This record gives sequence, structure tokens and C-alpha cells, in this order.
Amino acid sequence: MRPSILFPLFAETRTLPGVGPKIARLIERAAGTRIVDLIFDLPCGVIDRSYRPKLIDAEEGRIATMEVNVLDHLPNRDRHLPYKVRCSDDTALIDLVFFHAYPDHLKKQLPVGQKRVISGKIERFKNQLQMTHPDFIVSPEEASSLPQHEAVYRLTEGLQSKSLSKAIRAALERVPDMPEWLDPAFRRARGWTDFPNALRNAHAPAHDDALSPLTADRTRLAYDELLANQLALVLIRNAMRGQKGRSIEAGGALRAKALAALPFALTETQRQALAEIDADMKAPMRMLRLLQGDVGAGKTIVAFLALLSAIETGLQGAFMAPTEILARQHMASLEKLAEATGVRMVLLTGRERASRDVVLRDLADGKIDILVGTHAIFQEDVVFRDLGLAVVDEQHRFGVHQRMTLQGKGHKPVDVLVMTATPIPRTLALTAYGDMDVSRLTGRPPGRKPVDTRLVSADRVDEVVVHLRNAIAKGARAYWVCPLVEESELVDLTAAEDRATMLREVLGPAVGLVHGRMKGPERDAEMARFKTGDIQVLVATTVIEVGVDVPEATIMVVEHAERFGLAQLHQLRGRVGRGAAKSTCLLIYSPPLGETAKERLKTLRETDDGFVIAERDLELRGAGEVLGTKQSGLPEFRMADVAAHADLLAAARDDAKLILAKDPDLKSPRGEALRVLLYLFERDEAVRYLRTG
Ligand code: ADP
Ligand code: MG
Repeated sequence: MRPSILFPLFAETRTLPGVGPKIARLIERAAGTRIVDLIFDLPCGVIDRSYRPKLIDAEEGRIATMEVNVLDHLPNRDRHLPYKVRCSDDTALIDLVFFHAYPDHLKKQLPVGQKRVISGKIERFKNQLQMTHPDFIVSPEEASSLPQHEAVYRLTEGLQSKSLSKAIRAALERVPDMPEWLDPAFRRARGWTDFPNALRNAHAPAHDDALSPLTADRTRLAYDELLANQLALVLIRNAMRGQKGRSIEAGGALRAKALAALPFALTETQRQALAEIDADMKAPMRMLRLLQGDVGAGKTIVAFLALLSAIETGLQGAFMAPTEILARQHMASLEKLAEATGVRMVLLTGRERASRDVVLRDLADGKIDILVGTHAIFQEDVVFRDLGLAVVDEQHRFGVHQRMTLQGKGHKPVDVLVMTATPIPRTLALTAYGDMDVSRLTGRPPGRKPVDTRLVSADRVDEVVVHLRNAIAKGARAYWVCPLVEESELVDLTAAEDRATMLREVLGPAVGLVHGRMKGPERDAEMARFKTGDIQVLVATTVIEVGVDVPEATIMVVEHAERFGLAQLHQLRGRVGRGAAKSTCLLIYSPPLGETAKERLKTLRETDDGFVIAERDLELRGAGEVLGTKQSGLPEFRMADVAAHADLLAAARDDAKLILAKDPDLKSPRGEALRVLLYLFERDEAVRYLRTG
């Protein structure tokens, strides 16, 4: 239960004074529906009204605040031309300019012969000073009420900055006194104020420097958020760890058979990863390990060899993939090994409705050793006789393991191995997985050749097509990826269809198309035709669709490469360079490219180490952008900037561990305060793991 002290913050924004349904809807789009969303919506700019020049000195383009005499009203008969009010001080004249003016209103606001204080941007028009729609017009007596500095917030269309600022000010007034959840000595050493003060200060910047993520106030807020994140992860992990698992230790006979059947030897990093997994499985606690490595790094084999340990000891295994295509691919690539080792491995997808009952029965009877399927399938009512190890292939997404851990409750403890093909920088891995055990398959995947990577400007697409035609005449196979351009799948689809049509005109019927809206069998059929060489060019709309393994493909064309994350591009490139032939990756971009975009694409040319690329991307673009946080499933932060606050993250992790080591159920006074923190940042899930939640 959320502590009552936080109730006011979780009320809807429309309960704020002056926020009607219409403004509430706009605010919702700009910041969120609840008061807590408003207080966490920090300013992105600041207006400084402390500049108070004489008119003659007033610099064009600056925001100035000045006392002037109102001299004359100059209405305009033509409604399309502005209404002007001429003013002066003892040095010069200035015209106040109003479009679509209400003369009566202006006459009241700016009576001729009186003094007024005006504030707004200084402009010059035909050598005449002017100010269009001043932000403030007040009498000299009211001048002290003018804000010296105003916070500027991100707006949405139709939302006036005054409305949003007012709502945020009202929201800040609802912030209660909070119990301090930080260690007092730590807070003092950092020179931080308390949470409500830090929040208020962060909303009252006096100059641009105050917008830096590194101010004391913003740092404190970021730390609070990161601490909530890390506490939650440690809590979940402790709960997992605390759960007794079983000790799975196989003699290794099955594994030996599999290794004998493999046409290659394991690499050093594969052996290392396997040893780490073996140690976890053998330990009497639940395993929760992340296996990281590029596509093709050889994770699947490692996972399979781990599954064999479970099977050898009489348990079952599960292998989950994010899509049906990938599930089928895992199945296909492991079938021979399963045969060689006598392991009964079965695929369960949404499509095999007829055989579903039989599969489920065999599974419950223990006649099936390994069940392969999508994550979705395992969320349904699939019952194993005795599941020992679950392998979760997350490919490009994260966070599934958390749901897994929740599901594990009440069942027999299952060891979990999560595989991800997206190399995440260490800092980001920390926010998503906490201090999860990680094994990494580094270096270029076995058998891979470097891919010749080139940047091509979009106006040279014709040359790319010619190059493609020549290559295809010699039997080459190519991917052509059209990115997610718009939010709408339909628009993307059109772009890809147009491209396929255009390519067909030049290349003939050798061009196929796969996209997210195709039905499964249809898509698989198209992919199969590409695999067999029936079609030689595969146009695709999304990343997932090219999650196929076609070693004969040697050309990867990516349109609008500048719109992809580096990690995505790296993965796309990893689709080629798998066979014996030399491969090329053509990154088509639309000029002009910004500096950052140039740097990013350059990185890709310079290295093919996914981890290096990911770190570089984080540096260049910041966390939010690296993977497209929303779709990646990585946690989103509102106050913290993982790139700027990397050191804070490490401190928060240590802090969280220490706190929970001393006070595992958060029962001390500081523990109580930390519960408030967890709820404040909506880590409610984690609180459930406390014994006295
Ligand atoms: P991942 O699951 O990491 O994407 P896979 O396990 O599917 O990678 O491996 C990709 C390809 O590399 C497969 O064809 C696999 O047989 C092969 N492979 C795996 N390990 C090795 C190795 N040590 N030496 C040579 N080839 C390997
Ligand atoms: Mg174990």
C-alpha cells in the first residue's frame, strides 16, 4: 500500500486549481496525468528577466524588463496589420506590437500618460525598437511581483507555457515534507538539501547553468531515483537468491556426446561462460544469469549445453524466444544436436493448435526434455513435470526476466539463463538487471569475417541499386532494410512496399518483402524463399524480421541508417559476413548529417565489437536514445541521466546493497523512509518482496 503521505502526489492533475479538463488533457500529453508527473517534469530552459537596460542600450534579441511611459495608441484599420502602442523612457522610443488586438483591453492595460513596466524580447524593425506581445505589462507598484527568472517547460501543441508553469507551481505546493531517506553523513558530504527543497530549487533555475544535470539539486534528485531503482533490483534479486534452488550437477555424459557431434570446438569465452553457468546451477540457490553476446557469438550452443545438465539429472528445460521465427530457428539449429544426444526437443507455437494437447500432455508426463517456444506460450498454462532450467532469449528486449522471477513464485525454483544479443553498456545493464550475474561472449563471433561498411548518401541510391544488380547477377543475396519511419506501421509498410516495387522494376522478380503485418506462415514462406535463393533480395520493415540466419547473404543495405540506434545497426550488419564470401554493409543516410550522427556512423565503420559500439553510443547520445528506451524495456528515468550520472549509479548500487544488508525488510526509521522513496518512484513491485510489506 502506498503511504498516505504520498496520496496528494498521486492525485490527478485536474484536481489542481486552474486546471480544467481541457488543460488537463494537454498537460497529460506534455507531462503526465498525475501531480507526481508534473513535479518530476523538470524545466528545460530558463527566462532571465534580470536584464533591465535603458531603451537606448537595449540589445536586440534579449529578454528585457523596463519601465516606460505610455505615449500613444496607434490602431490599424487593416485587421491584418498590428496594433501598436508607442512608449518611451528618457532615452528612446519603443513600440509595443499586438496582433489581433482588442483595443479596449489594451487601452485599459496601457493607459496613455501612465507608467508601465514591460518585459519581453527586444526586437528592431526598420531601425525602430519594438516588443511583440510583451510577456508582462504591470504597473510600477506591481513590478516587484514580476518573476526574476522563469522556468521553461517542454510544451505540447495548444498548451500555453503560462498554464503549464502555473500547474507545476501548484503541484509543487502539494509536495509534503518527506522523511529523509538518504544517509545524513552522505548527504552532508555531497552538500545536498532535502528532497522537497531540491525539487523546488530544480524548478526555479536562475540561469542556464542551473539546468545542468550536475547541479547539487538535480544530482540529489537523480540519486533518489537511481537509489529507488537499485533498491528495487536488489530486493528482487535477494528474493530470488534467497529462494533455495536445487543443485544441478551432471556427470557430463550428455554434454560429451554433444561436443563430439559439434563440427567445431568451443571458443575460450564460450567455455568460460559455460563454467560460470555450471557453477551457478550446481550451487543450491536459484541461478539468474545473463549471457550477453552478439548475434552469432555462439550463445545458443552454450545454452543448449547447459540444458543438457538439467536433462541428464532427470529434469526438463525450456527455451523461450521473443518471436515465433526465432523459436523455429533455435529449433532448427539444435535439432541435429538433440538427435545426436537423444534429447527429445519439441516446438510449441501458437500455430500448432492440433498437436498442442498432445505436447502439453507429454510435457506433463516428462516425455519431453526441452520445450521450445515464444515467451507468450510460457505465460499460458504450460505445466512441466519438473522444470530445471529456463533459457530466455530476449534478443533485443529486456525486462522479461523480471516477469519471470515473479512467475517463479509458488512453483519449484527454476534456474534462469537470460540471453541477450544487444550488447548493453555496463551502466545500462546495471539499471536493467542490477547486479545480476553476467557472462559475456566477447570478440568477433567464431567464423565471422569483417564486413566492409560504407556510408552512402541517399541521393546516390541509384548507384547502390546498380551495384546490387551486378551482385545479384553473380548470385549474391541481399537484405534491404527500411526503418521505422513513423509511429504508424502502415506508413512504414508503404515505404517498404514502394521500395520493393522500385527494386522489382530494376531487378525483376528476385525481390521479396517481409513486414510485421504479414501472417506468420506467409512471412515464413517468404523467408524460406530467401534462404533457398528463390528470391535474392529481401526487403524488410523491421529488425525482427531479419532475425533469420542466411549465411549466403553478403549484402546488407540499410535505408535511413541515421534513424537507427547503433546497436541495431550493428546487429543488422551482423546478418552478413557469416559465410565464406566477402560481405558489404551499405548504410544509406539522408544528408545533412549532424555531428553526432556522423560520429555514430563513423564508430560503426571503425569497430565491430558490439560492446565498444554500445559504450560509444551511450557517450554520444545518452541513455534514452541508445536502444530506443521505450521499446527496449530498459527502465526509463525522469530525473536521472544515466550517461551523466554514471558515477551516481554505482554509488546507488552500493548504497542499496548496504542498506538491505543491514535492514533487509526496511523496518528501521530510515527503512520506512526508503519505502516512501520506492513508492514515490513507483517501484511498488519491489516492496512486495519485503516480508512486512
Ligand atoms: P547466437 O545464439 O549467439 O546468436 P549461435 O549459437 O546461433 O549464436 O551461433 C551462430 C553460429 O556460429 C552457429 O551456426 C553456430 O553453430 C556457430 N558456432 C557457435 N559456436 C562456434 C564455435 N565455437 N566455433 C565455430 N562456430 C561456432
Ligand atoms: Mg542452482
